[in-house]
Amino acid sequence: MIAVNELLIRDIVSEVLGRLGGLPAPAKPAVSAGSAAATSPCGCGGKGIATSAPGLRGKFGVFADAVEACAAAQESFVQLQQMGVAARVKIVEIVKAMAEANAEVWGRLELDETRIGRLDHKIEKLKIIRLVPGVEWLRPDARSGDHGITLEEYTPFGVIGAVTPSTHSIPTLSGNIVNIIAAGNAVVFNPHPSAARCAAVAIRAYNEAIYREIGIENIATIIEKPSMESFSSICKHDAVRLLLVTGGPGVVKAAMETGKRAVCAGPGNPPVYVDDTACMKRAAKAIIQGASYDNNLLCIGEKEVFALDNIADKLMSQMQQNGGVKLTTVQLEALTKAAFTFTAGQGGGCGHAAVNRDFIGKDPSVLARAAGLNIPEGTQLLFAETDANHPFVVEEQMMPFLPITRVKSLEEGVAQSLVAEHGYKHTAIIHSHDIEAMTAMGRALDTTLFIKNGPCMAGLGLGGEGYLSFSIATPTGEGVSNPRTFTRVRRCVMVDNLKIY
Ligand code: NAD
Repeated sequence: MIAVNELLIRDIVSEVLGRLGGLPAPAKPAVSAGSAAATSPCGCGGKGIATSAPGLRGKFGVFADAVEACAAAQESFVQLQQMGVAARVKIVEIVKAMAEANAEVWGRLELDETRIGRLDHKIEKLKIIRLVPGVEWLRPDARSGDHGITLEEYTPFGVIGAVTPSTHSIPTLSGNIVNIIAAGNAVVFNPHPSAARCAAVAIRAYNEAIYREIGIENIATIIEKPSMESFSSICKHDAVRLLLVTGGPGVVKAAMETGKRAVCAGPGNPPVYVDDTACMKRAAKAIIQGASYDNNLLCIGEKEVFALDNIADKLMSQMQQNGGVKLTTVQLEALTKAAFTFTAGQGGGCGHAAVNRDFIGKDPSVLARAAGLNIPEGTQLLFAETDANHPFVVEEQMMPFLPITRVKSLEEGVAQSLVAEHGYKHTAIIHSHDIEAMTAMGRALDTTLFIKNGPCMAGLGLGGEGYLSFSIATPTGEGVSNPRTFTRVRRCVMVDNLKIY
């Protein structure tokens, strides 16, 4: 397994040698894809297999230029095609093992660069990459009958252009690599500029390990200094057949306007409804656990709670017993003023206030300071009672603070949840034992994830059944992305023959 220190030293040596006029030859692959990279499957001596252009050698996926990054990924895609499914399996194994082995170092690297979120959760998000499905997900469908045999199988697109968020840079790109390469593609990333350095470290490490193992050097490439121009170049490149964007409304809109097919993992503002049939202790624990995860950076994270009036006090009391601190009206007002910027005509209670980025993903102690109070060590989350129009309800705030709004009925709770979710169709959560309430909320919100009686993470296989991805395609409808999301369906038909029964 490659250690990060070793990689950093090698980067430095590589750069120095590069400046002296030549990049070092990459280490020899342990398994000769060499045999695969230099020999065609039919054994005819390698014809038809692209070899890297000299300028692309030794980059291990990290490129200054978007066109070069796309070309290198395309070349590696062709190599992967020649090497078959076994090579995909190997790459998936390498990425999962390295994400886990480097979780602490990379988690810290990402936190140091972005300064948002929590170290324990940054580490966990890398360790759980093993829950992302791989090649086993691509089971072909077969039909046989009087007219022969037909196979519908999942085939790659080629190169996928991917955009990753600042909220989980290395986890998103690692999960994306697993899905995309399991499906037989290569990928070029335009990462978030404020989380690009850590992303490049991971990409280089993955490619070095993959190269050593199977001889492919640029199966996942990245733009070292990403920009809107590099995004645009990637989108325009002929080799890029499909886009995958993970982020807020801006990037979703930009991707949809490119004219290329785009899988869009867009924003959310998940509401939680709690009624009087729920277990308050369990609901409170789950809400604190979900909303405090990585300081509420998750797109699926609990962002506002609508609680039936007759249990709201009990719920808040249980939240206080499980790591939550309740703010007074005055403290809430101070925090609101610090956490949002209001344009003229907007007060503390209405309108689309802009979230102050200095507070996104910060620790509860930072928010508490702005609210004017000291909180005990170990506090997970702040919360306060608000009305339904409060900026903390309306905006996707991504802070360890949760607004709690009282509602008088299921109908009001569902209606307010619908408004707060903004039609993103992302995630909704209910704490209830009333199946009719669950059905009513599920139908009305029509979200991609609908979680009952658990924290938001249960929707991604953490404490609930299911598999993981950090890219949940909401406006474009593919759902929790998996290898099949990045495939085309091919129908292979054999007429009359091979009908053996
Ligand atoms: P962001 O929208 O600021 O950035 C996301 C990515 O898009 C970045 O790489 C950024 O550089 C790029 N980008 C932004 N505007 C662009 C434009 N006009 N053209 C091209 N590229 C553009 O988001 P963020 O702060 O990094 O992440 C948080 C947002 O992402 C939240 O809205 C959250 O809900 C969402 N998110 C969604 C999912 C999901 O699976 N649905 C997962 C993670 C985050």
